[in-house]
Amino acid sequence: MSTGCLFCNIVARTTPAQIVFENDHVVAFKDIRPVAPTHVLVIPKKHVVGVHEAKAEDAQVLGQVLLGARDAAEKVGLASYRLVVNQGPDAGQSVFHLHCHVIGGRTMSWPPG
Ligand code: 5GP
Ligand code: ZN
Repeated sequence: MSTGCLFCNIVARTTPAQIVFENDHVVAFKDIRPVAPTHVLVIPKKHVVGVHEAKAEDAQVLGQVLLGARDAAEKVGLASYRLVVNQGPDAGQSVFHLHCHVIGGRTMSWPPG
């Protein structure tokens, strides 16, 4: 069933995505507008808006996203990569279902823009 949340629809397969990794807790898929040679998004299957909105009972979900990011990075062959969570509009969050960007395949600069 289609919902109002794009990423819930990717979890439900009602919106297509190039899925690279999945387990019981998370789905990882290629970002549609990659900012690096490899750019994967890791999302929890549970709809959580963001880190700031997460509740104490979501602690496992938060951990599963980081472990899923590690596993997705391994799956796409990244040994060194950057993990990014944009929290809120000023930070660049545009989809309000928690997601961790896994970005790699080029040298990263610091500080981020
Ligand atoms: P945010 O800006 O919220 O941190 O990240 C959202 C990401 O989702 C962006 O990098 C954007 O390119 C990606 N995105 C938006 N719509 C789609 C879509 O329909 N499919 C996929 N695969 N990625 C999307
Ligand atoms: Zn959602």
